Amino acid sequence: MSYPVNKAVFIDRDGTLIEEVNFLSRLEDLQIFPFTSKALTMLRENGFKIHVVTNQSGIGRGIYTEQDMHSIHRQMTADLPGLIDSFHFCPHLPDAGCRCRKPNTGMIDEASAAYTLDRRNSWMIGDKYLDIQTGKNAGLRSALVRTGYGERISDTDQIADIIGRNLLDAVDLILQGSVKGSLATAVSGSEAER
Ligand SMILES: [Mg+2]
Ligand SMILES: [Zn+2]
Repeated sequence: MSYPVNKAVFIDRDGTLIEEVNFLSRLEDLQIFPFTSKALTMLRENGFKIHVVTNQSGIGRGIYTEQDMHSIHRQMTADLPGLIDSFHFCPHLPDAGCRCRKPNTGMIDEASAAYTLDRRNSWMIGDKYLDIQTGKNAGLRSALVRTGYGERISDTDQIADIIGRNLLDAVDLILQGSVKGSLATAVSGSEAER
């Protein structure tokens, strides 16, 4: 019996794929970064599944509705055709104690439930430490981008495996590592195949 193993990149939305807008809810405020399409295409070409994982407490706070958020995601799907496998969101308040809000791993578990994920060749990319911590909590590698809130994080911190100027730069670094095979050696045995 063999178990197909998949690699995936879990990507934060605000400040990573699109411009950070505090409590984004209006389509006219949606601005996909100019490099996002190319970065996702490169991941696709290298066999990664692509899942968006986003904390959207603005829903729990009553600032906007789940439908508002879905229309943003529909527009992103239209503008980035065939590049995003799924969107996952946490609508809860930060103190709700849910298991989906990053840095908890509920959204990653949900996104990868349908297939066998090779976690140690999979990545979490985001603009906040919360994203990096999420990756660590899920047993993934992690990349910090210096867009969005990432602009303000000090250089001396080494918590992420990779720090990129933006998503495209981070993807470049991830794929260079994969080509060299330095990441592949990390996977062995059944532990990684969950
Ligand atoms: Mg963000
Ligand atoms: Zn939640």
